[in-house]
Amino acid sequence: MRAVLVGGGHAHVHVLKLLGEQRPPGARLTLVARDVQTPYSGMIPGFVAGHYSFADCHIDLAKLCAARGIELIHGEAIGLDRVRRRVLLVDKQAVDYDLLSIDVGSAPNLDAIRGAAQWAIPVKPIAELGRRWLAFLDQARTRRGPLAIAVIGGGAGGVELALAIDHRLRSIAKDATLRIALIARDEILPGHAPAARRRLRAILKRRGIALHEHTTAIAIERDGVRLQDAASLEADAVFMVTQAAPAPWFAATGLPLDEQGFLAVEATLRSPGDPCIFAAGDCATVLDHRRPKAGVYAVRQGPPLAANLARALAGEAPLPFVPQRRHLAIIGTGDGRAVATRGWWAVEGRWVWRWKDHIDRRWMAQYR
Ligand SMILES: Cc1cc2nc3c(=O)[nH]c(=O)nc-3n(C[C@H](O)[C@H](O)[C@H](O)COP(=O)(O)OP(=O)(O)OC[C@H]3O[C@@H](n4cnc5c(N)ncnc54)[C@H](O)[C@@H]3O)c2cc1C
Repeated sequence: MRAVLVGGGHAHVHVLKLLGEQRPPGARLTLVARDVQTPYSGMIPGFVAGHYSFADCHIDLAKLCAARGIELIHGEAIGLDRVRRRVLLVDKQAVDYDLLSIDVGSAPNLDAIRGAAQWAIPVKPIAELGRRWLAFLDQARTRRGPLAIAVIGGGAGGVELALAIDHRLRSIAKDATLRIALIARDEILPGHAPAARRRLRAILKRRGIALHEHTTAIAIERDGVRLQDAASLEADAVFMVTQAAPAPWFAATGLPLDEQGFLAVEATLRSPGDPCIFAAGDCATVLDHRRPKAGVYAVRQGPPLAANLARALAGEAPLPFVPQRRHLAIIGTGDGRAVATRGWWAVEGRWVWRWKDHIDRRWMAQYR
């Protein structure tokens, strides 16, 4: 039996480790990955802020696979031939599977804002963000006069990224006059505690970051962002951290999708339309247990996904998994501090950043 994993996302790295170490008898494992260095999203704002190197926040899938005898195909999936059970790849031969698992993440929808595809820097793929951020830093070093940045997206990722950019540019672009704006269609941190919102608003204000809540960006142009109320914001760079969209190729698979086009799965993480296909992470929606698209949920799905793939390889029925309702969110503020929030409470401090750093490094250490 050949099990093929598509995407080296947060859930799949755990599957690679677990099934690689306790391989079901007769099973052959293959990973198809677009990025051999897969990013750990929780540490990416810390990379932007300058606290982590590229290696600190990326998992080397080639090493992870080689150490466990897992075949790695460096390629990008663009479709499925479910009749012949094959994954279709860009410029590469299709890969046959008996059992398939998909964890390819999501990306901001660049079609949602006019001009975004041409002018915005999307935060996903994260590899592309890293490359463009380092190139931008190089230019910023010698910058004199105004340097304006806009971040579109008021979720935890957008808030964290705006603060990380602010921190890094203050030390790199010393001769520039920095102007950072954060644009949120609703209020910031929807779904989080009002106490967390209050703290983050105060931090943004203290740091001089202009917060535009209940503001919709309608277009991105060469020199800035046009807003719905006819105002515009000048920007030398615009980062998009807006709501996640699914991979366009899901639509042609014939698999059941949710209303936004993400792969619909049962509580077992298996597709209700094909018993050979599982999916996890941002790219999947568990119909009975809907949760926000966040890395913590993808991470938590790793162990039940690994167990259910092992069961499927052994010819056993998969078991349902009920994810937790609330999760701890720790939002770094770029300056060696962080805000932690869960349910109704929120706390802030240097120790919170050290706590986050410890959690993230410990998680990464498992996959080195
Ligand atoms: C700036 C920022 C900060 C964030 N911070 C946090 C945080 O602190 N906590 C949190 O919970 N969430 C955070 N998130 C959200 C988090 O990034 C996602 O929820 C998380 O990455 C989802 O994990 P995943 O396993 O679904 O996919 P991903 O982590 O996106 O991994 C998908 C993998 O699949 C590969 N891939 C993609 N397409 C293909 C293809 N067609 N073929 C083959 N391989 C493919 C990619 O190369 C990638 O390695 C943050 C997001 C951003 C943008």
